[in-house]
Formats: sequence, C-alpha cells, structure tokens
Amino acid sequence: MRLLIMGPQGVGKGTQAERLCAHYSITHIATGDIFRANIKGGTQLGKQAQAYINKGQLVPDELTNKLVEDRLGQKDVEDGWILDGYPRNAGQVAALDEMLGRLGTPLDAVVALEADRDILLERMAKRAQIEGRSDDNPETIKARLAVYEKETKPLLDTYEKRGLLVRINGVGSIESITDDIIARLDARTK
Ligand code: AMP
Repeated sequence: MRLLIMGPQGVGKGTQAERLCAHYSITHIATGDIFRANIKGGTQLGKQAQAYINKGQLVPDELTNKLVEDRLGQKDVEDGWILDGYPRNAGQVAALDEMLGRLGTPLDAVVALEADRDILLERMAKRAQIEGRSDDNPETIKARLAVYEKETKPLLDTYEKRGLLVRINGVGSIESITDDIIARLDARTK
C-alpha cells in the first residue's frame, strides 16, 4: 500500500499515519520529522532547513525533493509507505510523479483529513504546550496555515481528478477516524 496523507496542520495527520502504518505494516515517511531530526543532529540539511521551518515557510523544493527521493529508494520502504507532509506544492507533485514513475510504484490513494480552522488552531495550541515545537507559536502557526491554503490545498483537486482522493472528516475520536479511513481504503481495493 502506498499512500499520501494530506490536510492542514493540526488535523491529526501524524497520529493517523502512525495508526495506518501499524494496520497495513507500511513505513511512515514524514518530511517534517526528517527535517526536525536533521536540525537536532546538526546536519548540513538541518542547517539549511532551519530558517525556513522557524518562519513557517516551505523548505526549498530542491532540498525537500532530494530528501524524499533518497528515502523512497531505501530498502525498508519496499513493502509500502505513507507520505505525510509531502507533497506540499505543485512542483513537489510533479517531482513525486517522476520519482514514482521511475520506481514503478504508483500511488494507491490520497487520504485528505478535513477540519474547521478553529479546531485546528485549538489543537495546535495544545500541541505547542505538550511538544514544545519551535514552530508551534501563534505567528508561525498562522503562516503555516496560510501556506497550506495557498499552495497545498489546491493539490487535493489534482488528486481528485486522478480518482485517488479519499476525503475524511478529521473531527471525532482518534479510533473512529482510523476506522473510517481503513473502511474507505479497503472498499477501494475490493
Ligand atoms: P510538518 O511537521 O509537516 O508540519 O513540517 C514542519 C515544517 O517542515 C514545515 O512548516 C516546513 O517548513 C517544513 N516541511 C515539511 N515538509 C515539507 C515539504 N514537503 N516541503 C517544504 N517544507 C516542508
């Protein structure tokens, strides 16, 4: 199974991605997590990405695409994966198409989690208290949501036209949302 999980910040992509990985025995690839690990480890990539992340801006495509391409070429993802936080703009969609074409591994579906802005703001404020992420402050949260609306949300239409989009209500219990996603995905493969 090869999936994308899309949706605004705070909608619960990471949580649902982890649960889907456990269910389908696939690998979670979250570009934000990879960037944060690189920042923590003081790598060259981390140094290049940090300023963008702290401002709530997208890291340049050439860095991000390269990172995803390297990750998708590794042995441990051969049985499937869920990409979380990528692609985030039209250029990244084109880059991903190219990578997957070359690897001969097409997408099975794109899960889009949806929730109202007020709920997202509330959830992110809570996450900021628990996780202490450097980019979970009110200014950066607004910037990230604006980038999502402008650059990432239009990509849902792209995948809808390709017949890959599965829209899911992201409000409810964690368990019921996972059940909903799995039921919808399994119905597609029957
Ligand atoms: P996330 O944890 O997915 O919210 O990502 C945190 C930050 O990492 C984002 O605000 C961006 O600065 C950067 N980032 C993560 N994924 C991407 C991507 N696909 N393209 C560009 N920047 C990204």
